[in-house]
Amino acid sequence: MDLPRVFTIRESSHRIHNPFTADKFAVLGQALRLAPGTRALDLASGSGEMLCTWARDHHVTGTGVDVSTVFTEQARARAAELGVAHRVDFVHGDASGYVSDEPVDLAACVGATWIGGGVAGTVELLGRSLRPGGLMLIGEPYWRQDPPTQDVVEGCHASRRGDFRMLPELIGHFGDLGYDVVEMVLADQDSWDRYQAAQWLNLRRWLDQNPDDELAADVRAELSTGPVRYVKYAREYLGWGVFALMRR
Ligand code: SAH
Repeated sequence: MDLPRVFTIRESSHRIHNPFTADKFAVLGQALRLAPGTRALDLASGSGEMLCTWARDHHVTGTGVDVSTVFTEQARARAAELGVAHRVDFVHGDASGYVSDEPVDLAACVGATWIGGGVAGTVELLGRSLRPGGLMLIGEPYWRQDPPTQDVVEGCHASRRGDFRMLPELIGHFGDLGYDVVEMVLADQDSWDRYQAAQWLNLRRWLDQNPDDELAADVRAELSTGPVRYVKYAREYLGWGVFALMRR
């Protein structure tokens, strides 16, 4: 089981596979007032930037689980580069259904709630690894503006308006699940650009180097249409944030 190769082409230069910047993860890490030795579990940890930088800055320890072999290797290399390989480890595998052996202080799923079949299922899944009183982090999109048409919905890579909520609905949903929202850091259009616009140069460079690859036609089509589509739809209509929750 592995992440389709096109993701690693698109996001080949990315350390963060979400519309978040290093600054925003740093703000979040400070906002959470993480105690040294905090034990974390990060499901769908990608290239491990959150865990590795928090291990460096706050002496967090723990495990990341991700289905991408490429991203998991990058996460291990990043841990070594930052000198935190003794604090964090990265496991290649399917995170759906993953529960830690020991309860953790911080359980996160940042930008992959499909692993639990949606927000509610992912909150339930993370809750099974979390100690009483622990912190849960959910990274999730929301509608910045209500999408007026199905074109807008699909332009944001959704199939139905109901795939995402408006921000007040999302915050309310966490409450309905029995959790207090105790912190949040939101993406903005600039941090969205660092995620999305940064993919275009990756696509172009890859195309120049791999004109005969079986994915070349798809990548060419994506680069030809993606920038307009992004500024027309996701950049205007889609928000994203990381929400810190504690069980009531
Ligand atoms: N949290 C990371 C990565 C988010 S991108 C960050 O903020 O950078 C979504 C990630 O989910 C990708 O790394 C992808 O490989 C991973 N993923 C998708 N399905 C998964 C699954 N079933 N189990 C584990 N990881 C999964």
